[in-house]
Order: sequence, then C-alpha cells, then structure tokens
Amino acid sequence: MDTKKKVLIGIAWTYANSDIHLGHIVAYMSGDVLARYHRAVGNDVLMVSGTDSHGTPITERAIREHKTPQEIVNRYHEQFTEVFKRLGMSYDCYTLTATPYHAQKVQEMILRIKDNGYIYSKTEPASFCPKCNKFIYDREVEVICPKCGTVSKGDQCGNCDYVFQTEDLLKGKCRICGSPTEIRDNTNLYFKLSDFEKPLKEHFERSKDYWRKNAINETEKFLSEGLHDRAVTRDLNWGVKVPLDGYDDKRVYVWIEALWGYVSATQLYCDEHNLDWRDYWYKSDEHENLIYMCHGKDNIVFHTIIFPALLMATKEPYVMPEHCVSSEFLNINGEKISKSKGNGWPMLDMLNKFDPDSIRYFCIANGPEKRDSNFTFADYHSLHNGEIVNKFGNFVNRTLKFKGLEGNLPKGTMDAQIKAEIEKTYERVGDSILATNFKDALNEVMNLVDLGNKYYDEQEPWKLFKVDREKFNDVIYTCVQIIANLGNLFEPFMPFAAKKLRDFLGLGKPTWQSVEIGCGKYFGEMEPLFTRLTDKDVL
Ligand SMILES: [Zn+2]
Ligand SMILES: [Zn+2]
Repeated sequence: MDTKKKVLIGIAWTYANSDIHLGHIVAYMSGDVLARYHRAVGNDVLMVSGTDSHGTPITERAIREHKTPQEIVNRYHEQFTEVFKRLGMSYDCYTLTATPYHAQKVQEMILRIKDNGYIYSKTEPASFCPKCNKFIYDREVEVICPKCGTVSKGDQCGNCDYVFQTEDLLKGKCRICGSPTEIRDNTNLYFKLSDFEKPLKEHFERSKDYWRKNAINETEKFLSEGLHDRAVTRDLNWGVKVPLDGYDDKRVYVWIEALWGYVSATQLYCDEHNLDWRDYWYKSDEHENLIYMCHGKDNIVFHTIIFPALLMATKEPYVMPEHCVSSEFLNINGEKISKSKGNGWPMLDMLNKFDPDSIRYFCIANGPEKRDSNFTFADYHSLHNGEIVNKFGNFVNRTLKFKGLEGNLPKGTMDAQIKAEIEKTYERVGDSILATNFKDALNEVMNLVDLGNKYYDEQEPWKLFKVDREKFNDVIYTCVQIIANLGNLFEPFMPFAAKKLRDFLGLGKPTWQSVEIGCGKYFGEMEPLFTRLTDKDVL
C-alpha cells in the first residue's frame, strides 16, 4: 500500500450575488490549513471549490442591473478568485458552475442515478402566473402571512418565520407583474432521498466521531424528522439544462448541481493534469483516501446527508466524505452578519488594508470553531500587535538582526531541551490539525515562539556576546533553528511569513519534520515580517 494518502478537500462554494466577506472566510480557512498541512506531510492533496453561479437570486439581480446572469457571475467570480489568491487560499482548482464542463458532468450524474431508479417525475399543483405565462417559484409569489398579516415573498414569512402552506400560496400575487396567481399542475423530477434512510444512518454512525457537535446535532435532527424526496428541477432559464425530453423550460435545482461541483472540479483538474480523478473519489486498495468538506453551519445537512446520498445513488464505489468541518457563525461587533445591514467586512477592503497572514491568524485564533465568535477591531489589533508583532515578529527580528553577527550563523550546538520541544511541537500541531482543532494547533506553534522568547531573555545573548562567545554561539544557533522550524510550523496558518522565513534561511518547500540548517549560512538584511497596527487602521 502506498503510504501517501490521497486527500480531497472540498470547500463550500461561494454564491455569486454579493461580495465575499469575513464570515465566509472563517469557514473556508479550515480547508486551507488542512491542505497545507497534508501537503507538508507529503500526502497527495487536491483542494477544490468554485463559484456557485446559478439560481434565482442571480437572475433577479441581472434583471435589476440590466445585465445577463453570466455577466453577474463573471464579476463575482473575478472578485472571489482575487480574494482567494491574495489570502493565500491554495486551491488546486477553483472553477465555477456556469461552465459547459460542469453542466455535462451533472447531466451524466442525473442520467446515471435516474437509470438506477432514484429519480422520478411527479406532477403537483404550483403557482402559475397567467400574465407572465409561466410557473413562478415561491420567492416570486407575494403572500399575506395568515399568522401576522405581513406581506412576504417566498415560502416563509419574513416577520414571524411561519412557513406557508399550499393554500396560503393560492391567494398569492405575482411579484413580477402584480397579477393574481393561479394554481396549475406542474411536472418536476424528484430525487428519492427517502430510499437512503438506512445507509445514511449508517454513514452518520460511522462518521460522526469526526464531526463537530453542530454537525452531529443537525444531522441527527434531520434524520429523525424523516427524509423527504427533493425536487431536482425547477422552473427557471438560468442553470444546468435537464438532460431529458419535456423539461426545456426547467433547469436542474442548484442544490444538486452545486454539490456535484466537488466531483466535477476534481474531474476538471485531473483532465487538465493527466491524472485519474477516481484516485481521489473511489475506494482503493492501493492507497488511503481522506475526503474533507469544509463549510459553515448553514450548510451542514447538504454535506452530511444530501451529498452522501447522491454519491450512494450513483452505485459507484465512492469514498464517503466522512470528515465534515462545519464552522459556526462569525458576528461583527456583536451583531449577526446580514446582507441588509451590509456589516460583513468585504474581503477586498480588508485585504487592501491588512496583512493576509494576520487576517488568517485572526480567522483561526478567533474563528467560530465550536461556537459563534465575535469580530471587533479592538480584538484584531490586540492579536496582531500583541501576538504576531510583539511575540513572533520580535523573536525573528532580534535573532536574525543581532548586531555583530555580520550575517553569519556561527557554529554552535543546539540546546537539547529545545530540540526535543521542537519535535514535540510538530506532533502536537499535526494531531490538533487532524482533529480539526485549529485554534489549539496555532496555540502550540505560539507556545514554541514563547519558549524561544523566554530562552532568549534568560540566556541574555547581548551580554554573552561580550563575555562568552562559545555560549553566545550556542544560543544564537538554537534561536535560528527555532526560526527555521517556525518556517514549517507556521505554513498552514501564515503561509506568506512562513515562506519568507524559509526563503531567507535557504529552506525549500515546507516539510513536517524538524530541520536544522548548517552554520556559516549567510543571512542578510531581512525586512520586518509584520508592521504594527495603529488605532487608525480600521476599515
Ligand atoms: Zn407572519
Ligand atoms: Zn406575472
């Protein structure tokens, strides 16, 4: 058996109708930490995602802005791609669902699971606007809430959260033209989710130990309420075409095709790189497979129930995505992020103002890993200045810029205790990352920084330099080795600073084992890794 694992990391797809903000990033960051760690360990990693491009919010926006849906998608896709690049999100494939390639893969999957008997057609009463001459979906119907009297759009009251029933929708009005709507028979395709109750429960029992509490609770609740078949098609003209006759004015529902993006993005990457996508998705005797799904808590059941059910329905030997990393929500200044408040801190603005490593650090250290967390600039400043600049940056600076070294690493012997501590740090950080406890993992790296600073202060190299050169050499040699190893250990968290350190010390790609660089190696002038933030540095 190949000792290298095939690791597929699927990060949630960002929807192309509003700016990407910090609330998205905190959920996605887990995926990048995992990807960078697994690569450093030597595993074969593929990290995929893309821009979720279809559905009614995009067509509505296109109408409002007198643009085509594709133009709206391209605009946001460009923004998302730039944000991820500048933030150091190491996607192997970042694509979008509005491509012929994706459409073809989705259509193949639908035909396959239909052949397997898991897709059927069903005719039901639905809202129809005679003036617009089309079926209109819930969001396009204006309904007076029978509970509280508020005028709402869609399937749920915006005021009291009451979920509308068919009889409520009967008295609706078309939001496009204002005419009263009728109820007519409409035929759609459905996915037999209900057939998968037993294997999904087994999947849950097998995988739940890898999941966080929120995923366990939500999935358990969803399963206990009984599984309902889900519509595969809907009345819309923007999306993946339905590969069957009689559905020309319908498209594939976003939930099913966007989820399939994890598979189609892998296939796209593998096609372009002469690889076999099945290596990442099919069970194998040759190697071990790991599949991670990273997303926010609003997306849990799609990844713990619905996507596994689709994979099962193909009857192909898919590896189940057992490792779900579901983040909680990030609040801003104590408030829930909401589009209407516009309080989500757009990522482009943040990246124009702040260091990407520092944003990443904050996302991990203060991220909503197990409970909702809060973002304030006061906290951000104190983490940046207190942890990153004062501890990490300062340790690097005072060691590498020591006056009198003339750019040479003197010959010395490494402190045995520190050497042992470095080894243990690799293990502990790795274990925490694998357990998806990213905060703990980052803390372990910072503990090594603290140890470095403590050692430096206790040994007082600025005094030794004048009185005991041999001892001085040992101390500086030891501190430089700590820094060399921080160049590996910070890689998953702060990849830009980590690379600067490795480049500076002549180390190549990150590895996940302790390194010791030889003496005599030149280290010249190094720019400070970070700059201090002032009170003025806010958005
Ligand atoms: Zn209501
Ligand atoms: Zn109408």
